[in-house]
Amino acid sequence: MRFDVITLFPELFAPFLKVGITRRAFDAGLVDVRLSNLRDFAVGNYRRVDDRPFGGGPGMVMMAEPLSQCLRHIREARGDAAPLVYFSPVGKPLDHAAVARWSSSAGAILLCGRYEGVDQRFIDAHVDEQISIGDFVLSGGELAAMALLDAVARLQPGVLHDEDSHRQDSFNAALDGLLDCPHYTAPQSWAGNAVPEVLLSGHHVQIDRWRRNQRLALTLAHRPELLEQARSLGRLDAQDEAFIAGCR
Ligand code: SAH
Repeated sequence: MRFDVITLFPELFAPFLKVGITRRAFDAGLVDVRLSNLRDFAVGNYRRVDDRPFGGGPGMVMMAEPLSQCLRHIREARGDAAPLVYFSPVGKPLDHAAVARWSSSAGAILLCGRYEGVDQRFIDAHVDEQISIGDFVLSGGELAAMALLDAVARLQPGVLHDEDSHRQDSFNAALDGLLDCPHYTAPQSWAGNAVPEVLLSGHHVQIDRWRRNQRLALTLAHRPELLEQARSLGRLDAQDEAFIAGCR
């Protein structure tokens, strides 16, 4: 899949694309990330990409024309009808279901806003989807784009060392959309705190049950709506329900 990123700060992406387990996905082109510097498409004598807002007020607004030129250039190079995604607080908050959909798509064109955002006429004319990464305001869409690219990259086959590893993560349908269980590693005793006994038992049925119960308890405590969702989808069995009843 191919993601084209429209940004005024392509240099922010370089270190991100070169580290960690996701690097393999980017290097191998499983997730082919192409950066377009919007500055290259600046128009007029002053090579501007932003201007003051009509109607007054603080800040600057990204101009429609450079964006439009940049988009045309990308569309010609891609030769497909990839959706244009604009990162914005207006969008639907990003979640696992959306990441899973993107991870098996042909990719997208990702527009990273800066300043006060983008001229609304460009959004109306060209943006197919808006994505938010939460109810707070970033100074640019680049971190939002990297969040999406990272989450998509780790879902690609062969990227995580253990093929099944992402299926054990929070929100994954393989574990009924619950939160992940707690993890422990060496040493067995740290600062006077022992690792839960069952994890040392070698008894896999008991370990699986303990982990399931931890997932249920954590989800009940922190994200009860996810537990309710699992219940309504028929994903909780009698053993689960008995454990949950004991938590209350
Ligand atoms: N004036 C806008 C904020 C602009 S912040 C408002 O109040 O809604 C500059 C850019 O950062 C935006 O154009 C957008 O691309 C990005 N951005 C800011 N917050 C974001 C969020 N929560 N999710 C995704 N992108 C965000």
